[in-house]
Amino acid sequence: MPTKIAIIGTGSVGSTTAYACLMSNFAAEIMLVDINELDCKGEVLDLSDALFFNKTSKISQATLKQVGQADIIIVTAGKAQKKGQPRSELLQINQQIIKQIIEEMHPINPHAILIIVTNPVDTLTLYAQQITKLPKKQVFGSGTLLDSLRLRNLIAEKIGIAEQSIHAYVLGEHGDSQVAALSSATIAGSPLTNFIEKSELNAIAKKAQQKVYEIIQYKNFTCYGIASCLAATCENIIFNQKRIIPVSCYIQEYDICMSMPAIIVAQGIKSVLRVPLDSQESKKLQDSISKLEDMKRNLQ
Ligand code: NAD
Repeated sequence: MPTKIAIIGTGSVGSTTAYACLMSNFAAEIMLVDINELDCKGEVLDLSDALFFNKTSKISQATLKQVGQADIIIVTAGKAQKKGQPRSELLQINQQIIKQIIEEMHPINPHAILIIVTNPVDTLTLYAQQITKLPKKQVFGSGTLLDSLRLRNLIAEKIGIAEQSIHAYVLGEHGDSQVAALSSATIAGSPLTNFIEKSELNAIAKKAQQKVYEIIQYKNFTCYGIASCLAATCENIIFNQKRIIPVSCYIQEYDICMSMPAIIVAQGIKSVLRVPLDSQESKKLQDSISKLEDMKRNLQ
């Protein structure tokens, strides 16, 4: 069956994601929807100019009912953070948007993979799992993949080794309480701390966590990193690559969603892996869990 990707919300993140998917050549069809139908129409027309050079055969404006039947549904609709604003402040308004979208999509393709991007992504992923009734393995959030890549990029810059060869994960909330699992990060099997002092690594992790604020300070929104992460995640699903990706997934022990490295297959999350942490990191992860538990209590 030709693969259909749907993107809900064609603002900065949604439109860039559509372009990244188009350029990655894994989807037969890309469907877009936005509450602002004219903006969406403009994006579809503009993106259709890029079809000639790529393998995707169709890009179209759709209804929420139609996108509910896609193979992979990516939700980027909602308010974005303003300068200096933490993602957690977006909960109330974006919960209502997710609710309306999911209700209108019903009945959703029972085999669809639903990827939540809208912030605060962990709590909204949990909420989407609750209201879609899709199996939890089919509903996950973009989580800390982007944060993990920001961390790896800064480490790579520092030591002159390609970021692809650095194995390091950011866990927990995709937000201010995220935890860089530095004690178990490795390069060619050796601890990262053999390459960089722990204090310097901590400073790099802080810089990676703050990067979103820096980008928003300059250009008001972020789009390229998240769009690339989403295209790569779709590719992993479509080709059943079984890559390990830190995504926001359901953690039964705490009844919340947060990021842990997960094996992603064609049907969604195959399993979630635990990363060894030192005592300081464990404490920070517990704080991140507590924050996500508090946010869950604020769901209406
Ligand atoms: P944006 O304002 O540029 O786009 C949001 C779009 O959502 C707009 O086009 C708007 O019309 C649309 N929308 C709003 N309500 C809708 C509804 N009910 N149905 C359909 N469309 C609707 O914002 P953006 O910069 O693209 O960010 C979108 C979301 O993604 C924000 O919540 C942002 O915080 C989040 N984000 C997440 C990550 C991540 O890593 N998880 C990264 C970047 C942005």
